[in-house]
Amino acid sequence: MRTFTLEKVALSLLLLLYTSCGYAQWLQAEWDVMGTRATVELWLEPHQRSNGKDDNAINHPAVRAVHDEFERLNQLLSPWIAGSELALVNANAAQKSVAISTEFENLLQRSRWYFEKTNGAFDITFASAGHLYNYREGTQPDDATLESVAPAIGLNRVRVSASGVTFSDAATRIDLGGIAKGYAIDQAIALLKSFSIKHAYIGLGGDSYVLGDRNGRPWQVGIRHPRDDKAVALTLPVSDIAISTSGDYERYFMRDGERVHHILNPSTGRSSSSLVSVTVLAEKGIDADALSTSVFVMGPEKGLEMINRLEGVSAILITPEGDVLYSDDLAAPN
Ligand code: ADP
Ligand code: MG
Repeated sequence: MRTFTLEKVALSLLLLLYTSCGYAQWLQAEWDVMGTRATVELWLEPHQRSNGKDDNAINHPAVRAVHDEFERLNQLLSPWIAGSELALVNANAAQKSVAISTEFENLLQRSRWYFEKTNGAFDITFASAGHLYNYREGTQPDDATLESVAPAIGLNRVRVSASGVTFSDAATRIDLGGIAKGYAIDQAIALLKSFSIKHAYIGLGGDSYVLGDRNGRPWQVGIRHPRDDKAVALTLPVSDIAISTSGDYERYFMRDGERVHHILNPSTGRSSSSLVSVTVLAEKGIDADALSTSVFVMGPEKGLEMINRLEGVSAILITPEGDVLYSDDLAAPN
């Protein structure tokens, strides 16, 4: 005869409790990198959870891979790290040809593609003037200084050949801040997919990507109100798409009633003021990122005209008056 002792019942209850620990769950992690905040939120199936002993989300292998990739890109592309590939190019390319990695070259070629597509509104040599601003300290170059660096701006000052990069003007500087975060997001999404993650949100400052859905519903991504950091201007239900917002409220200071911020018009070396927020949706983060900065500089008419011409991209613009403008594919039919 089989007997069910109290111990046996207790043991099977414990076993049941242990196996039910293998539930699916959302995992969230946040950290600072690339001068901004990284956020990762992902859905783990029971077999994708780590052994349960380590509750720290950052130590999950998929999150760790994203963390390390962002750090690697920061070391490669930061203008503030003296040994970064970007800093070495800026320090030496006016004197000699500087050898670069294939990855760096690809980013330069992509930047050139956008430079041409936007008639020079997207121009990584904006940094020739950009490095003279200090948003934290609230300082900017005077007109005479800007005039003296004007000849250094223009991507045709940058030559890329088999032996490396050269600058034809001693005052030329480049900065990939308008495209690097979108690229980093694409790298992160590829990594998450390699871990068989099906549902995730990745945010890096104003750039994000939503993979799959959230509990069977589209992700809800908010566009910040440009003049109230606690308010959301619009919420977009989205999945499997990159979203990038460029705003004049990210890095700025006020001077004589004017907002001096981090998106510069390369033709003047001054902050662009015809829009206050631009959100672009695209399949790839790199395109959403470059295009949000581009449209911000191009202004509402030329910017929307370009977005409407491009395949598979949408945009939402907020004007200084507070009007919201949409690309044709998003606008409600009249
Ligand atoms: P954020 O970095 O605030 O998320 P953006 O995607 O709009 O926002 O990128 C702004 C960054 O783009 C600036 O900090 C600067 O590094 C770079 N940038 C500014 N003006 C230009 C420009 N005209 N062309 C290309 N890059 C630019
Ligand atoms: Mg951008």
